[in-house]
Amino acid sequence: MTRITLVQGDITRQTADAIVNAANSSLLGGGGVDGAIHRRGGPAILAECRKLRVGHYGKGLPTGQAVATTAGELDARWVIHTVGPVHSDTEDRSALLASCYRESLKRADELGARTIAFPAVSTGVYGWPMDDGARIAVTTVQETDTAVEEVRFVLFDNHAYEAFARRLA
Ligand code: ADP
Repeated sequence: MTRITLVQGDITRQTADAIVNAANSSLLGGGGVDGAIHRRGGPAILAECRKLRVGHYGKGLPTGQAVATTAGELDARWVIHTVGPVHSDTEDRSALLASCYRESLKRADELGARTIAFPAVSTGVYGWPMDDGARIAVTTVQETDTAVEEVRFVLFDNHAYEAFARRLA
């Protein structure tokens, strides 16, 4: 049984086996969660991301997929980078957002992670409406078969926290 928990705060301050990064496909850093993870996690994470870019992910990490690196100085064993879709008013990209959660849990299972912390992927710069982002996040985790024992959503502000809390209620 997977427990879903909610925390309001900064994901880079969390203790977990794996911390998920709302990355962009370049894997070379960005704003929001991505910037915070690289700032606080130190250069080891970026160094491993660069290696991924010269290796398997020459064109970058496709939207909806996930890949793990070291967590550097974060209080975690791994960072799992996933690329959320940019929200669109004309195209339904929810399957890609669901894929981010599913693929991240798959990487976590492969690594043997038992606790994982997720941000609200795509709900920042990528413009996904928070209520719908919360719906997709919670239902996807609930429907995914995983050995992860705790899935913790780490929500940056009260608005995000309340949206996830409503979904879980
Ligand atoms: P995306 O590009 O996938 O939209 P962002 O990082 O811009 O990713 O935002 C994703 C969500 O994470 C937003 O709801 C944003 O408010 C939140 N966020 C930003 N910084 C942090 C942080 N340090 N910890 C947790 N959540 C954060």
